[in-house]
Amino acid sequence: MNPHVFAGNPLDRSDVQRRDQRWLDAQASDPQSRFLPFWQLNVLIHSESEARLGWLSPTEITRLGIDLPPVFLGLQGGVAHFAIDISQLGDPPHELNLSESWRFEEARSAATQLSLAESGILAQSRAQVDWHRRHQFCSVCGERTAQGRGGHVRQCPGCKAEHFPRTDPVAIMVVVDGERCLLGQSRGRLSRTGTYSALAGFIDQGESIEEAVRREVKEEAGVEVGQVRYHSSQPWPFPSSLMIGCHATAATTEIHIDDGEMTDVRWFGRHEVLQALKGEHPELRVPAPIAIAHHLIKAWAEGDVSLD
Ligand SMILES: [Zn+2]
Repeated sequence: MNPHVFAGNPLDRSDVQRRDQRWLDAQASDPQSRFLPFWQLNVLIHSESEARLGWLSPTEITRLGIDLPPVFLGLQGGVAHFAIDISQLGDPPHELNLSESWRFEEARSAATQLSLAESGILAQSRAQVDWHRRHQFCSVCGERTAQGRGGHVRQCPGCKAEHFPRTDPVAIMVVVDGERCLLGQSRGRLSRTGTYSALAGFIDQGESIEEAVRREVKEEAGVEVGQVRYHSSQPWPFPSSLMIGCHATAATTEIHIDDGEMTDVRWFGRHEVLQALKGEHPELRVPAPIAIAHHLIKAWAEGDVSLD
């Protein structure tokens, strides 16, 4: 089973039904249907004993008078689930008449409080809402586009081009040399918090996953990589990445860092990595379990990776 936050979405995306606009309209007004509102990309959460996604009814949504179509996410138990961007409202908690146990929350922080299944729905809906916000105009001719198939396409009335939601693949890898592994600190957030993580980079056009792993490690750390093994993947909706996690064997060990991108890259021994994963190392910090990097590092440190 995929252990990652943002993976494990239980919805059936219903690709056949979503092509039928009349079916979508009927679902959108069915009293059983559920709507997940986003305000400035923050998701509505309801928390009493435990946090859950803050689903609203079609009546509550209609009352808001939002002039954007909802995005159809999929079906669960025959019930239609939608996401809707309500950013045009000035004060949504007031306009929705929400009690104190409801709040709009940033998706990373929300994801750590939700079940894995709900974090998967959050990944799909945040990525979709954000993609529609950023793709209002045709990239071929500049005309305003319109949403089709419940949000799985944007169509241009001018040149008839169809634009599909994008996913950007990122290779993320823990390079291993016997009893030690290669971790780095990129400029920005990691260096501010003193955290060392797996190296990572966007996969380029015309490049395989293995080639991207070898290129990124060479660029960021100057280390040559031999064998590459896929481990697992994680949707990362900021805005639309897919993290592709790998382990790799080092073919060379001398480090030459790219100091434009990285503040430090080092080899760390298995023992100190195990300590850091438990939060018991005096200096070394590694990413939290929300990130696939944590699980790639842990799988290697605990001996669950075979690279022969
Ligand atoms: Zn166009």
